Order: sequence, then structure tokens, then C-alpha cells
Amino acid sequence: MLGEKERRAPFIKKFNFEPPGFVTISPGKRCNLHCIGCYASSSSANAEKLDYDIVSRIVQETHDSWGSHFTVISGGEPLMWRSQGKDIINLAADHPYTFFMMYTNGTLINETTASRLAEVGNLTPAISVEGLEKETDARRGQGVHSRILKAMENLRHYGVPFGISVTATKENADLVVSDEFIDFTSRNRVPFMAGYFNTCPLAAVLL
Ligand code: SF4
Repeated sequence: MLGEKERRAPFIKKFNFEPPGFVTISPGKRCNLHCIGCYASSSSANAEKLDYDIVSRIVQETHDSWGSHFTVISGGEPLMWRSQGKDIINLAADHPYTFFMMYTNGTLINETTASRLAEVGNLTPAISVEGLEKETDARRGQGVHSRILKAMENLRHYGVPFGISVTATKENADLVVSDEFIDFTSRNRVPFMAGYFNTCPLAAVLL
């Protein structure tokens, strides 16, 4: 997934350095939530974004230049990104040889979206959670936890592999490694992955 030998080797020979393992693209800054400490300064009013053609070209070039088959999508909320009549699921459909992992707040994964994700098959959501209901709602907004549970239900229903993304702070560090939290992931059958991030020490204090 991270590079075909046949394409990596000529790249290294030509440029004298290793290409990236993978590229993370943030196609747009718009987001429907207002989380405390949003790393991207996203909001519903922030319209900064890349054009579809640019994003598609980057994905294509990571493949053509060093044979990458894996791209990470961040944001803003990737499911809010629209450009040139296309969205993030269209991007996955247009690059069937690339596997995409998308960080998402999960709140926009309704039945239609889950079914489209199942259809393309190469875009997996990593849904952000801060812990259990209390912690997620405290940082992400009232009711977000229950919307995430509904998103997970929709993804399971359509057989879409998904995971979670957890940012550890001083507020939730103990909880997110507790049996209680692991039980939560098992109960909701988070089948694919769980990524833990730590904030920089200053940010951790501020959060
Ligand atoms: S969901 Fe992500 S991008 Fe949106 S406000 Fe929260 S942290 Fe920022």
C-alpha cells in the first residue's frame, strides 16, 4: 500500500531521498461542529478549500511518482467538502487503486453516506471520539456522542470497515486506556482500528 518497489526505486535513484510513506490531504476547512481546541480552526463559515482537480492530481501523482496506494484525508470535516460537483466519496471512486482513510466527526454518516461508502469500498472512516458520552459531548457538542453511535450503526449495517480516532488529553488520558473504554469499543464493534494521538504538552494543558 505504501509504495510499489518498481516505482519507489526509480524515485529514490532520481531524487536521492525516500518518498513519503503516505500523504495526508486536508481538502477543505469547513466543518459542522465547533470542538474546543479545533486544530484546524474549522467552522461552518470557513470556505477555504482545494479544488477537486488539485486533490485528485495529488493522489494520482503519489501513485505515479512512487506507487503509493494509501492516502489519509483530514479536514475540516471531509464529508462537507464539495468541489467541482464532486465530494470525497467521488474522489475514492475516481482512484480505485488507492485506499483512503478519512478522519471524520462521524455526524454526517447517514444511511445514504454509509451505503455509498460500501459501494466504493476503498474509503474507511476513523471517527473521532474523546471517551464516552460525557467526554465527547463536552468537547464536541451536546448530542454528538449519540450521533456517532448512529453513524457506527449505519456503517455496520452496510458492512463498511471503520475505526476510531482518540486524542488523549489531561482530561481523558486515564479513561481512554481503561477497560470501560475498551468495552465501549467492543460493544460498538469498532472492527478496524483505533488510533491514539497525543497533543503537544502545551495544547494538552490548554485542553
Ligand atoms: S470535528 Fe474536527 S475539524 Fe470539525 S471542529 Fe471538531 S476538531 Fe475541528
